[in-house]
Amino acid sequence: MTDLAYNITTVCIGKKYEPLKPDWLQRLEKMCKKMNIHIWSEIDSTILKYGLEEAWWDVVRLKRNLELLMKEKKPVMHLDMDMIVEKDLIDIVNLPYDFIISTEIGGPNAYPKECSNKLGFGICSGLYVIKPSAMKFMLTILKNMMSYTFNCYSDQVNIMNYIIKNPHQIVVEEVVLGEKTYKNNIVLIDGIKIGVLDFAMVIRDPILNNGQYANHINIDNVGGVVQFKKYFYADLETLPLTCRCGKKHLGDTTVCKHLAMRQLKNM
Ligand SMILES: [Zn+2]
Repeated sequence: MTDLAYNITTVCIGKKYEPLKPDWLQRLEKMCKKMNIHIWSEIDSTILKYGLEEAWWDVVRLKRNLELLMKEKKPVMHLDMDMIVEKDLIDIVNLPYDFIISTEIGGPNAYPKECSNKLGFGICSGLYVIKPSAMKFMLTILKNMMSYTFNCYSDQVNIMNYIIKNPHQIVVEEVVLGEKTYKNNIVLIDGIKIGVLDFAMVIRDPILNNGQYANHINIDNVGGVVQFKKYFYADLETLPLTCRCGKKHLGDTTVCKHLAMRQLKNM
């Protein structure tokens, strides 16, 4: 086996995401060089005793990712199966941060609000990268998740709560990739640098293609796996919007502003 620069992993347990596997794999192999892919599809029996409550899969994948990091000592990227990769993710891995994570939609009101209100942004664990230098920090996060310290198994909720409850500093750092300038939020904590990626790099509910590295699309928002598959193959701008606006069956009754934003750009 050749020595590849980093590992990309995902978790796929149960039937919902199974049909996406070939499309997701093919897309990654086409877009990304210098990486190896691992799919975690078994539930660790030590996890089962914690009960299968909301976001328990975050515990499964983080535990596996840290084991892989320990074994191979090269960066491990987690990537959700509802991420459509648009460019080689090696640029993200190469950023000079110990732990890298994408930004959640909603700015200072992103889930969970009580944390993003303080930070000014939320983080989204749909894409994260752990480097060997972040091992100790992430082991602390895993320990908190397993002991239900913040009443939740979710990795993003645990990381955000840990940050706001411990001494930290936030600075904005500009990086130029290709011809674009991105502004990442950097969290300095426990002697490491956490790079929270500019929302324009990895976009939740994308409206247009504007050079982003990945589009993070909620499968339920677009009507299920069959509809979602189209986003792998057709141009984003020819497909229905992926936001939740006005989808009463998903509990949203707001009026969508995104369609007008797309039409304006296309004029
Ligand atoms: Zn909308």
